[in-house]
Amino acid sequence: MSTTRAYAATDPRSPLAPFTFQRRTVGADDVRIDILYCGVCHSDLHQARNEWGGSSYPMVPGHEIVGRVTHVGTNVTRFKVGDMAGVGCMVDSCRHCHDCADGEEQFCNQAVFTYNSPDSHTGGITYGGYSDNIVVDQAFVLHISDRLDPAGAAPLLCAGITTYSPLRHWQVGPGSKVGIVGLGGLGHMGSSLRTPWAPIPCCLRRRRAKPRMPSVWALTRW
Ligand SMILES: [Zn+2]
Ligand SMILES: [Zn+2]
Repeated sequence: MSTTRAYAATDPRSPLAPFTFQRRTVGADDVRIDILYCGVCHSDLHQARNEWGGSSYPMVPGHEIVGRVTHVGTNVTRFKVGDMAGVGCMVDSCRHCHDCADGEEQFCNQAVFTYNSPDSHTGGITYGGYSDNIVVDQAFVLHISDRLDPAGAAPLLCAGITTYSPLRHWQVGPGSKVGIVGLGGLGHMGSSLRTPWAPIPCCLRRRRAKPRMPSVWALTRW
């Protein structure tokens, strides 16, 4: 166990406050990451405020985590100390249901989310990335290129994959038109995914008045 500093919500109304807890010891399949950056997803606000119900307190939010590997377990083959690594919304699943077999662990009935989820290792609740380190099974840790700005890479772990996934699922390519409903956090990420196969999107919004956006996010309207 290691003493870990964090920011936690203690109830649905209070501001997040400093909080200390014990991370589990690094197991044979685990990677320990010193967290450098963690994105702030709107889900964190919903969960901290119990707007979806089912929130457990104290809650340490954060599921857009980027950091550097400091310890690896004896079975870990995919990471070594010093690697940049990321953790998204999930830290475990059953590993054997048909969803897990299809690589869609997010649909697993026993999916363990990065925070506010029952933690079989500790018997408590998982604590997320608003903390100085995290211990995660290597199967749920991602490589982060050293060429990426780690602060900019962190939102890829939730907002980024959430908007990238439908582009791939629907095989968006040359000739496709993409509509993004709302230019919020995910809308920004979706509009930034400009690759040869992802055309410049059209943003659909209800109100004309909106804060001026940086030119990099300027959108083309069909
Ligand atoms: Zn999120
Ligand atoms: Zn499963």
